[in-house]
Amino acid sequence: MAFSELTGQKSVKSRLASAVSERRSGTFMFTGPVGSGRHAFAEEFAKALMCSDPGIDGACGKCDCCKYFGAGTTPDIMRVYKPSESKNVKVSFIKESVVPEAVLRPQFSRMKVFILDLDYLGVESQNALLKSLEEPPAHVVFILLSSNRDMVLDTVISRATEIKLDPYTNDEIIEIIKKHVPDCPSQTAAIAAANSGGVPGKAIAMAEQGEDTDLKREIADMFLDIPEASYLKLLNDDAAFMNDHKADAVAVACNFLLLIDDLMRLKGVPGYKNITFTEHRTKLEKLAGSAKIDNVRLGKCAGAVKDFLKALDVNANYDAASCAMLLKIHEELKE
Ligand SMILES: [Zn+2]
Repeated sequence: MAFSELTGQKSVKSRLASAVSERRSGTFMFTGPVGSGRHAFAEEFAKALMCSDPGIDGACGKCDCCKYFGAGTTPDIMRVYKPSESKNVKVSFIKESVVPEAVLRPQFSRMKVFILDLDYLGVESQNALLKSLEEPPAHVVFILLSSNRDMVLDTVISRATEIKLDPYTNDEIIEIIKKHVPDCPSQTAAIAAANSGGVPGKAIAMAEQGEDTDLKREIADMFLDIPEASYLKLLNDDAAFMNDHKADAVAVACNFLLLIDDLMRLKGVPGYKNITFTEHRTKLEKLAGSAKIDNVRLGKCAGAVKDFLKALDVNANYDAASCAMLLKIHEELKE
């Protein structure tokens, strides 16, 4: 594993490579939304900092430091991620374990590295770290991660070199999906990429969940009943379905988009072979054959699903957002 094995973020990689070659202690802060690859880049950066013979592509992968790092047995890295037992990391842990450890020399790596996820460090914990962040000893590098810069103290930000992860391009997202979900059909990958907002973690979740076949079948059954459903059914049964699948909301949306895509293909080329939902072909063909349904209406349905996805992003009222989507699809597809 080296920088080149991580997809995208060209300018970030060159900044990391020069930081590695400078062999200086310091504090870096990776910022970007959840799922943007902050952890993957932090790990690769840490490995390169600790490696005995790093190059422009990061860690050599061959030295003892790299071997121990790969095996997870190096004592020279400390990771402070989401605690299992509480919402935030305890201040006492920062004061009693992290701060004193930061003054000790690495046991055999070139550098000693601390990776701390600031999303789980409250104000007091951040304050407790300030002194260490300001003057890390010669052999120490702090790598901080944040998905929400507003929650980071200004005094922490001012002590760190910020490395912002850029949104990924569509092609990069598709490449990442292929690495993580090798069996993902290209149709699903394309839809997941187009609706991921350039965030790989989100695209991978969509691609993975989109492949749960039982769930897929249930979603298709529900979707294909929407045009003929009464308002009562939409607002009771279908809304309840959406609520039951709140944890899979992204998968539901992804499959809705794939169903709309199938309808568009069947509308354009009656009998089109390569649809995603082959099991539901009869119903899909019947719906696509309706004179009322055209690509403009199908486009509006896709727009309603995308609005739903946006609402999920900003934590809008889930029930209201899902009902708005169901009603809009019903309006566009009903006879
Ligand atoms: Zn190495």
